[in-house]
Amino acid sequence: MQLTDHMPLLIAHDQLEAIRQHAAREYPSECCGVLLGLADGSAKRVREVVALRNLRHDAARAQEFLPLADPWQESERNRYLIDPGDLLKVEKDARQRGLEVLGYYHSHPDHPARPSEYDREYAWPWCSYVIINVAEGRPGDYASWVLASDRSRFEPEPIELTENHRPEKGEPKETRWLYR
Ligand SMILES: [Zn+2]
Repeated sequence: MQLTDHMPLLIAHDQLEAIRQHAAREYPSECCGVLLGLADGSAKRVREVVALRNLRHDAARAQEFLPLADPWQESERNRYLIDPGDLLKVEKDARQRGLEVLGYYHSHPDHPARPSEYDREYAWPWCSYVIINVAEGRPGDYASWVLASDRSRFEPEPIELTENHRPEKGEPKETRWLYR
């Protein structure tokens, strides 16, 4: 399969910057968030970045939703978990505004921007998974990934950086924080 089989993810400079800042702020933990936008036959266009809390910080509650195989080896430093309640809110709000969930982003503190086996296991088909490396607190390489149709592996998805989107009147700003 060729890379061009995947349509590109179009993301604006300041949206990417928001992800970088979120990743740096959460270091050495993983950050996570949702990419909202619109997809047509040729591209996925990100309209909004929604920064979410990594539920792994709340180990007891996170274990209830998605238990970790080895809580001694796994924590918010190498795992992220989006709160299902937060995601529901974001999805509902997006639908009302005619946007869809294009994918998710998370950081890899001191690890390359490549999906882990864990990432693959819990990934949804079609969705974009943007991963950004944070090396000693500084955001570095990033890449976007999509599951292969048989779920056996992730395939790279091209990212195209675009001009910053200018929100129209009444339109929310491009980055929202669902926590502080
Ligand atoms: Zn990961």
